[in-house]
Amino acid sequence: MHLRTLLNAVYRHKGFVYGNETLNDQQNCVRIDVRPRKRSRPICSQCGSAGPTYDYLPVREFTMIPIWGLTVLFVYAMRRVSCPHCKRVVVEQVPWSVGGKSRLTTAFAHHLSSWARLLSWKEVGRRCGACWDSVAQAVEWVVTYGLKHRCLDHISAIGVDEIQYKKGHKYLTLVYQIDAGSRRLLWIGKERTQATFHGFFDMLGQARTEAIRFVCSDMWRAYLNVIAQRAPQALNILDRFHIAQKLSEAVDQTRRDEVSRLREQGQPAYLKKSRWLWLRRSENLSRSGRSRMRDLLRINLTTVKAYLLKESFDRLWHYTSPVWAGKFLDRWCRDVMRHRSLPNLKKVARTLRSHRELILNYFRAKQSGHGTFSSGVVEGCNNKAKLCIRKSYGFRSDKYREMALFHGLGNLPEPEETHRFA
Ligand SMILES: [Zn+2]
Repeated sequence: MHLRTLLNAVYRHKGFVYGNETLNDQQNCVRIDVRPRKRSRPICSQCGSAGPTYDYLPVREFTMIPIWGLTVLFVYAMRRVSCPHCKRVVVEQVPWSVGGKSRLTTAFAHHLSSWARLLSWKEVGRRCGACWDSVAQAVEWVVTYGLKHRCLDHISAIGVDEIQYKKGHKYLTLVYQIDAGSRRLLWIGKERTQATFHGFFDMLGQARTEAIRFVCSDMWRAYLNVIAQRAPQALNILDRFHIAQKLSEAVDQTRRDEVSRLREQGQPAYLKKSRWLWLRRSENLSRSGRSRMRDLLRINLTTVKAYLLKESFDRLWHYTSPVWAGKFLDRWCRDVMRHRSLPNLKKVARTLRSHRELILNYFRAKQSGHGTFSSGVVEGCNNKAKLCIRKSYGFRSDKYREMALFHGLGNLPEPEETHRFA
């Protein structure tokens, strides 16, 4: 069987025919001639209209998906069109090439981009016999198409979060759609300022913004301000995960302070190597962890007080009524404020007090049957994004980092292909 028989079955292009195949052993390469069908007219790559052939360019090679360790190339001499519409001579557009003129075939681009969801781009290039630039070009092609053809209607719940990159020196603001059944990355902005986040609402437009009913965020002031300003009709829910994180940080800081205080006073090192005990939730401790914890709880340590208060805060999330949750929150904050020895936790309590209404929005959402928005949906998305960035060593510019994020998390529509090669 000829390769051209297979190609005619899975990768046929109107107006073109496959010709001879030649194998070059030395270069591990198969070349397949392509020529225009008789009497077919070339298509102008600028405007898409057909016109008479002006002349032929020297043959050019297009990379197809390799088979059995052999590089496969289409060999074709591109025509130039005297375009009646553009009124000048223009290179023709060929249907198998990405963007109409590039040396990457659409089949190979599909192949590369689907692997790029799973592996780092460098690894994809190595495994598929392509250079990094080809992988980047393939992903860019798929993502550009996807962003252009995606539908942004019917978004009723969004989440916003920031992500650190370049070893924590830089921030990106990411906005996700978090409706049940449709979770995806919607938008990426540089930095985490108010101006950044305004950019998202500008992109979304007035009508779609007005349809948003829930916005999940952390307590970052810039985000809260923009949400209040741009989507005042929406319920702004504070992400439960971020609140738990703040409490854990406060307990950890209390432990650190106490360790150094005990050391200064020449006291026994009770707290040595106990960090993970305090950070883990009590029900997740191992047997030995639990018994160590029991011993520690008997000693009257500040860290213990902080830890118990942190654990008791968890009960808040079990409430369904905003009124009762509010009462619990007030009581909890009052308890904390009584402890002179807990400055770190008091700081958190003050923050919680000043965000009281936003915290109670969680229960208002729960009452309206949308309790799932705050249980770490945004956090889950953000963890995937972090993984995507970590996998991305070798991204040479911000543009490609964004491409990779949209490719991995955007749930974008893909350019159509009659045959799925991978
Ligand atoms: Zn034209």
